[in-house]
Amino acid sequence: MHTKYLAFAIPLFLVFMGLEYFLSKVQGKKFYKFKDTIANLNVGIAERLIDCFSIGIFYFYYDYLQKNLGFFDIKSGVFAWIALLLLTDLLWYWYHRLGHEVNILWSVHIVHHQSEEFNFTVSARITIFQAIARTFFWSILPIIGFNADMISIVLLIHGIYPFFTHTRTVGKLGFLEYIFVTPSHHRVHHASNEQYLDKNYSDMFIFWDKLFGTFAEETEEPVYGLTKPLKSYSFLWQHFHYMIELAYAFKHAQTFKERIRIIFGKPETLDPRIREELEKRFIIQFSEDHNSKRVYTYVVVQMISLLIGLFVIIYFLDSISLTSQILWAFFILISLINCGALLEQKRWIIYLEAIRLFIVGVLIQLNYPTTEIFYAIAIIGLIIIAFAKTLKNQYFKLIFG
Ligand SMILES: [Zn+2]
Ligand SMILES: [Zn+2]
Repeated sequence: MHTKYLAFAIPLFLVFMGLEYFLSKVQGKKFYKFKDTIANLNVGIAERLIDCFSIGIFYFYYDYLQKNLGFFDIKSGVFAWIALLLLTDLLWYWYHRLGHEVNILWSVHIVHHQSEEFNFTVSARITIFQAIARTFFWSILPIIGFNADMISIVLLIHGIYPFFTHTRTVGKLGFLEYIFVTPSHHRVHHASNEQYLDKNYSDMFIFWDKLFGTFAEETEEPVYGLTKPLKSYSFLWQHFHYMIELAYAFKHAQTFKERIRIIFGKPETLDPRIREELEKRFIIQFSEDHNSKRVYTYVVVQMISLLIGLFVIIYFLDSISLTSQILWAFFILISLINCGALLEQKRWIIYLEAIRLFIVGVLIQLNYPTTEIFYAIAIIGLIIIAFAKTLKNQYFKLIFG
């Protein structure tokens, strides 16, 4: 399978997001908030990017398991495909449910639930850590005997389907509500209303929730996000805050039993004061709307460039050298951190800008390895270092006013 064609999912999904945005405007509803959208896309870009490198490893892992530990060698056929789809969905249900009920798994799934909006961009809020945790659950598939090719195709379908359930533009869908997971069902899952908590874990088929007693119908308007909202759009804080909270609780725990409870216990048992303490320590603040228009413009320009960059790296991955691939990926990751930090007016972004410039210099030199280019880059670099202080002041003046 040529994974380069997966690059076209980016413009396709963007078209759907655009349509949803347009539709919500026409209906006079506000389904999109700027910072939420940026944060959602940021997380999604990082995951897609790391996926470029990990997809082959996951394939190899499934292939190895099936060939070495597989009980059967299941051949492709109608029943095999149906069985695989149902089994994948059942495993997803338990992976997802435990993702909400066990601290260590919640630390990776929490990122999906941080948005206080609900639209197509929220579906992008999946992290690479979640993909790793999920792969552990899906290891059962090759051990039963499904081959890596079949698994990859089903996981692709299983991955695309939930994109369409993250929307408020669609109401209830008649008889489909009894079989499939619909936007209405998934709105309930993302809600923090008391009666909606820990409900509707299914991904494609809703009957798992009905079978295991976790189903709830959408009856009142959902309120989206975590029960204790995250006060930050920082790319890093969103990804790691819960892991740091767990590490902090673990370190300060008195007994072994308490430590086990911190790792495998329920998220609601973790002391909420820990986050408050850590927010103070890491100077996490909810920067509402004191950003200048120039910050937003800079973030939007970066976002568009990053989406194009992601498309390019996925499509041309095979024709880029490994060193360039790593540098490209590193550049994109730093830019994602930069976007979040910009919205919070962090002054340390200046170092990120310096690193980005350095990477650009190395990339140009790698692709055009002439002596003239080397000296040109070296001279520009020396000028930047010589005027670093002035450039820094000008930069902050330009961006933050
Ligand atoms: Zn969830
Ligand atoms: Zn979701």
